[in-house]
Amino acid sequence: MPGRAIPEARFYSLADDGAVRCSLCHHQCLVTPGHVGVCKVRRNEGGRLVLPFYGRASAISIDPIEKKPLYHFMPGSSTFSVGYVGCNLRCPFCQNFGISQSTDALTEAVDPAGLAHAAVRAGCPSIAHTYSEPLVHAEFVVESLMAARSAGLRTVLVTNGCARMEAATEVLSLCDAVNVDVKCWSGSFYRDELGGDLPTVKAFVELAFRLGTHVEATTLVIPGKNDDDGQIDGIAAFLASLSADIPLHLSAYRPMYRYTVAPTPQSTIERMSVVARRHLRYVYPGNLGSQAVQTACHSCGAALVVRRGYGIDLAGLNGDNCAACGAKSPIIVA
Ligand code: SF4
Ligand code: SF4
Repeated sequence: MPGRAIPEARFYSLADDGAVRCSLCHHQCLVTPGHVGVCKVRRNEGGRLVLPFYGRASAISIDPIEKKPLYHFMPGSSTFSVGYVGCNLRCPFCQNFGISQSTDALTEAVDPAGLAHAAVRAGCPSIAHTYSEPLVHAEFVVESLMAARSAGLRTVLVTNGCARMEAATEVLSLCDAVNVDVKCWSGSFYRDELGGDLPTVKAFVELAFRLGTHVEATTLVIPGKNDDDGQIDGIAAFLASLSADIPLHLSAYRPMYRYTVAPTPQSTIERMSVVARRHLRYVYPGNLGSQAVQTACHSCGAALVVRRGYGIDLAGLNGDNCAACGAKSPIIVA
């Protein structure tokens, strides 16, 4: 960005010898002059933490909201989706590794009001920050969320949930819906294999729930890594301790990036769904091809929403109530 001052970060403090301490996520990187933090997008320039990728989008697309995945939030709608570069984790199975693990991807300049107006022009009722890890761009995301709300849009975040309370509170306070990856229930796998932090993710999910944001969670099930019953039991019991109505998406893994483990069999997802349903009412398989996935009314069992791929049948809903028995559904329609 020649000729333009690079915006200064928030969420950091000064340290010795020109270094700075970033406090945005669990890494709390000590960044020395001329260097970047683990996420690669927050740099120490002359003793200040700056944001060289502020307002740089790596991907803009109009997606079905179900792709995020969000199944209980505005089903059948499209969401204006924006991605960035960089991530504070290093998942060896990352489906977006080209933009999450490198900052070399092509990006275009965007601004918060411009994104909101583009979403409105495209007829999308919501805007989603997604694809790589939006939270490492918290400053820009906060401004974009505010602009989106001013434009009458609903706001969505898709995230690994690895942000500390200060930044997380700012972002989540402006989000209508969030999908958080809860990748496993092993602190050591989170830390050693992914570079993440399970307590931070748990605190993030709890905060989102407490703030009244609509919460859904996703676990990518990887054979031999996180597919034992204890893992999913821990995740589901934790979510249910907040609400048994939090939807959990159990997605089948496919070989990607550094992992060559065989794909997750359907039988594994089915077995883990049984375990998760001991705690949660709404457990959804993902990445299993074209099989129909439905949400049933908890009161009478009628189908409220039926999804075939991204084809969405809402005939079972009357507003946000069950069309058959009139019970309040768990679905946020608008
Ligand atoms: S956001 Fe980036 S620079 Fe800040 S602590 Fe996390 S990884 Fe480090
Ligand atoms: S947290 Fe998400 S974007 Fe980041 S490396 Fe893991 S899978 Fe990729």
